[in-house]
Amino acid sequence: MAAHRSCALWSYCGPRWSWVMRCCRLPGFRSSRPRGPLGARHLSQEKRETETHFGFETVSEEEKGGKVYHVFESVAKKYDVMNDMMSLGIHRIWKDLLLSKMHPFPGTQLLDVAGGTGDIAFRFLNYVQAQHKGKQKRQLRAQQNLSWEEIAKKYQSEDDPLGGSRVVVCDINKEMLKIGKQKARAQGHKAGLAWVLGDAEELPFDDDKFDVYTIAFGIRNVTHIDQALQEAHRVLKPGGRFLCLEFSQVNNPLISRLYDLYSFQVIPVLGEVIAGDWKSYQYLVESIRQFPSQEEFKEMIEDAGFEKVTYESLTSGIVAIHSGFKL
Ligand code: SAM
Repeated sequence: MAAHRSCALWSYCGPRWSWVMRCCRLPGFRSSRPRGPLGARHLSQEKRETETHFGFETVSEEEKGGKVYHVFESVAKKYDVMNDMMSLGIHRIWKDLLLSKMHPFPGTQLLDVAGGTGDIAFRFLNYVQAQHKGKQKRQLRAQQNLSWEEIAKKYQSEDDPLGGSRVVVCDINKEMLKIGKQKARAQGHKAGLAWVLGDAEELPFDDDKFDVYTIAFGIRNVTHIDQALQEAHRVLKPGGRFLCLEFSQVNNPLISRLYDLYSFQVIPVLGEVIAGDWKSYQYLVESIRQFPSQEEFKEMIEDAGFEKVTYESLTSGIVAIHSGFKL
């Protein structure tokens, strides 16, 4: 059991949500596990302890967290609109594909880290609700001798439309979570959904707690990726699954050139016009280029203890779904 030392801010909603996260950690507490900062592989041993990348800028590890926080605090209100504009809506398909790959069943306990404004969590809730309804229908069809009144009564007596599934959205940024909660209210998501303010590198959850851990477009923003991966491994139950959706390196030279042109010439301009924030979108583009290759990232996932690690490229290699199991 990990040593938990203080209480994280968390909130919950929905009936019968008894999943209390009892043990949390003190801000600033660091585990003694070894870390290897992203992108600092060519620096000297001494520098490796203190320097990392913030986009194309070299910054101290201490500075990076604050800078990343500022980016998402600044973009939170326009985050969803910008995602649609920048990806021409394709991010929705990538997120749907992540859910099909996860293929959760009623009862699945999901932790969505760097969950931001809740896109993965809402898809998860819709998915398990549909699965659960389908299962109920099949069961009722099997009992053909029931009257319509009995069937209606059975539907009404089912008080958990999610069949026991729960999702916790964990993100380090209050503003992103605030927008997520507003979206949840607007979309009518209430039951089975909790929002927790927390750091991917020091998750405020007990060991062996979740069936699935997801992180979508989040891990490249974390200062110590290996630390976040170890935390993912720790909080998953044995048999649990890690799923990461992230930009990857494009190998086709023509697509790569077009992609570079779009990323560096168009996205910061969109950021300025729509969100009034060139710098944040420039960072987002640069951080994609600083992320390890899919092969390197696969090794990092394996180093954290995951097995059967795979990656699947989407949209000409622009994005990949990485998957692994805690066995
Ligand atoms: N997963 C969401 C999605 O796909 O729309 C949001 C992705 S957004 C690009 C990245 C998110 O990572 C932001 O909400 C940011 O606050 C969060 N983040 C950055 N560093 C983090 C950390 N160390 N721990 C938890 N969340 C972090």
